[in-house]
Amino acid sequence: KELYRGKNILVLGLAKSGEAAALLLHELGANVVVNDALPYEENAQARALEAKGLKVVCGDHPLSLLDDGVELVVKNPGIPYHNDLVKEAMARSISVVTEVELTSHLSEAEIIAITGSNGKTTTTTLVFEMLKNSPKTPLIAGNIGTVSCEVVKEATNEDVMVLEASSFQLLGTEAFHPKVSVLLNLFDAHLDYHGTKEEYIRAKAKITANQTEQDQFIYNADDELVSKVASTTKAKTIPFSTKQVLLEGVYVKDNKIYFGKEEIVELADVVLPGAHNVENILAAVGAAMSMGASKQQIKEVLHTFSGVEHRLQFVTKIKDRLFYNDSKATNILAAKKALEAFDQPVILLAGGLDRGNEFDELASSLSNVKALVAFGETKEKLAATAKQSNVREVQFANRVEDAVELAYQLSNEGDVVLLSPACASWDQYKTFEERGNEFVTAVRALQL
Ligand code: ADP
Repeated sequence: KELYRGKNILVLGLAKSGEAAALLLHELGANVVVNDALPYEENAQARALEAKGLKVVCGDHPLSLLDDGVELVVKNPGIPYHNDLVKEAMARSISVVTEVELTSHLSEAEIIAITGSNGKTTTTTLVFEMLKNSPKTPLIAGNIGTVSCEVVKEATNEDVMVLEASSFQLLGTEAFHPKVSVLLNLFDAHLDYHGTKEEYIRAKAKITANQTEQDQFIYNADDELVSKVASTTKAKTIPFSTKQVLLEGVYVKDNKIYFGKEEIVELADVVLPGAHNVENILAAVGAAMSMGASKQQIKEVLHTFSGVEHRLQFVTKIKDRLFYNDSKATNILAAKKALEAFDQPVILLAGGLDRGNEFDELASSLSNVKALVAFGETKEKLAATAKQSNVREVQFANRVEDAVELAYQLSNEGDVVLLSPACASWDQYKTFEERGNEFVTAVRALQL
């Protein structure tokens, strides 16, 4: 913890992670300067840090900030590398890192880090739940909840940190070294930020770059790009697959999940729906077992865990209708995944912000959809796609709460009522969480 004492450190960009990093470094005796784009008068967060004794510079990013012997820049993951100040720091050979790098240096707890294009939050939550009642106490950190720089303050060697890490965070690491790392999948996401696919893969591969033979790397053997990364790691590899039997890994055979030769759970008893979630479960089993979780606890979690809020989360059953909240599905691909998770007839609630795109790609996943209740800016477009795909019933609602009412009227026993909007929420809601909460509240109101 003496590593940062007396060091001149520039924290670039506030938000939650910048604030946590700045405070931690300040407490550890570093000379911290905080620089944020939002002007001083509007920047309550910066002023609060100033009141705690940190130096703040707000409104722009003057290059002169680097002049007074800055030895390290801690960058908010959202600030791109083409930012002038970041470029200048790199030109002067000053290390530019994100807060997970600090966490890795400072953590007394071992770290399980989880990344991938999709499924990070679900897998992180599963691992966290599976490690409860194990020899070490799990602490959850990262995008999913508390910033890792805050969690690290309390973490001891009796704990294990379960950390969700985005590619933006991983890109800013040098010595980041998790005991167990998980790479779920690599899709063409976030290319606008990383520039090329190679860069994106390079960022994700950093999760295992410093691992040694004593560490474990859990990876998706069904994903070609992920397997390429696996071939470069020094860590012990634990593959997972939904398609092949892997005696050294985690896999599905005869509708059961196995780790090596050991049977873990029957798929029929797993509450979490969706083929994509089977992948997340396999990864979580691999990570949790590597860290000493018991089979009993893993089973218990899989028998009860109904999903992370707003991610294909089972809400309730009312008169034999099943209600699922997938408000996080803010694009077509995510909604397709959700629809593919069900064999039963589905009443789909969808719509939201119009980004100018069409919904043709959704058509092939609508075969189980017996009714669409559409809302928001895209409702007409969604209705057109549904009609072309022979969805029997299409109705319009003003908001999600009205859509729930309509859906319930249209439903029969055995149906699934699914909110999976395929659109961002910002035309009507501040966040996808607000939209999902409205759904859950309206569903619960049906029961009254
Ligand atoms: P992330 O934290 O990476 O955004 P989440 O666990 O929050 O991932 O899941 C977000 C959405 O991504 C889900 O609603 C689902 O549509 C999709 N998804 C989740 N896991 C996977 C997976 N293993 N493969 C493909 N898509 C997935």
